[in-house]
Amino acid sequence: MTNFNPAELLRDEIRTLDAYDAPVIPGLVKLDANENPFDFPGIVKDALAREMVDQIYSRYPDPMARELLCELSSYTGLPADCLLAGNGSDELILTLLLTFGSGGTIPVAVPTFSMYFVHSVVAGARPVFIPRRPDFSVDAGAMAEAGKSSEARVLFLCTPNNPTGNITPPEVIAGIAGVSRCLVVVDEAYIEFGGESCLPLMEKYPNLVVLRTFSKAFGLAGLRVGYLAANPEVINQLKKVKNPYNLNAHSQLAAKIVLRYRDIFSRQIREILNLKQELQKDLEQLPGIRLYPGEANFILFRTPHDAGEVFEGLLERGILIRNVHSPGLEGCLRTTVGQREENRLFIKALADVLKQKGVS
Ligand SMILES: *Cc1c(COP(=O)(O)O)cnc(C)c1O
Repeated sequence: MTNFNPAELLRDEIRTLDAYDAPVIPGLVKLDANENPFDFPGIVKDALAREMVDQIYSRYPDPMARELLCELSSYTGLPADCLLAGNGSDELILTLLLTFGSGGTIPVAVPTFSMYFVHSVVAGARPVFIPRRPDFSVDAGAMAEAGKSSEARVLFLCTPNNPTGNITPPEVIAGIAGVSRCLVVVDEAYIEFGGESCLPLMEKYPNLVVLRTFSKAFGLAGLRVGYLAANPEVINQLKKVKNPYNLNAHSQLAAKIVLRYRDIFSRQIREILNLKQELQKDLEQLPGIRLYPGEANFILFRTPHDAGEVFEGLLERGILIRNVHSPGLEGCLRTTVGQREENRLFIKALADVLKQKGVS
């Protein structure tokens, strides 16, 4: 074989993508991915271990995760045929775009979660960025216009929005869904922490899709479980495109058990919100920091310094957060609310970095 170059076989758009990677550095204070900071509760782990024994791991899992959907049906109050489970909500974003997005446009309210963009490109769809206002609220008029276009296939907005943390009220989303001819996807990855869910709108707006995950409030990021709620006819189309056995048996079991113990997670959520208030107060005390108020389990902030340098300074001190510097988020960083001691170490390290850089 001479001069084999796989890049020549690719679509141009794929060639320009970067592989998704995240640092795995043991021993760091990890505040970069908005996970639940607490240990997975012992009682829930014990229940999982007990029930694991009876699982038949040598057989394929239920491709439709029926038992989990049944539990999710009572949790959400929606019929099971309005629900679909996935290998994290990331997978469901891709499935939505492969099913409905290819060849069309994908309006996205930005700045926001990067996967709407990446999966659009992978699916051969064209993302169209609709800027949020300076306070990060959604420009509902512009989103509605984009959603009316005959090219539009799937429109994305996230509430509470990652990484800005602010919410979009259901009335605003109803206004967009009511005039759009495309699917309107509302990513509620952080809804357990704040904001009002759009699930009650499902009945009135057949083009509405609500995305949820077990990775944030429910502490299951490592097992990859997400789900979406949509009109049954939308679900039936998605089922044709999704991987047959997208959700493994162990993850299906774990998610069912988590729902059974959801009171424990509700307590953790309240504790995380209390820790967020403390963290906000401590951040406000630091020189030159501007905070953006939000409803999720993370905090967006800006420093007067280069975000990359602040990020590196923290990393040198054993703290991993997220540099989200990008158009509309110049100089911004995002930190997850950790356990109290983790937050203390983060504040101490940030104070040190700011002191070293000097107040400007
Ligand atoms: C973390 C996150 C997800 C991904 O969740 P998974 O279920 O772990 O794939 C989806 N949307 C947003 C906005 C997120 O922040």
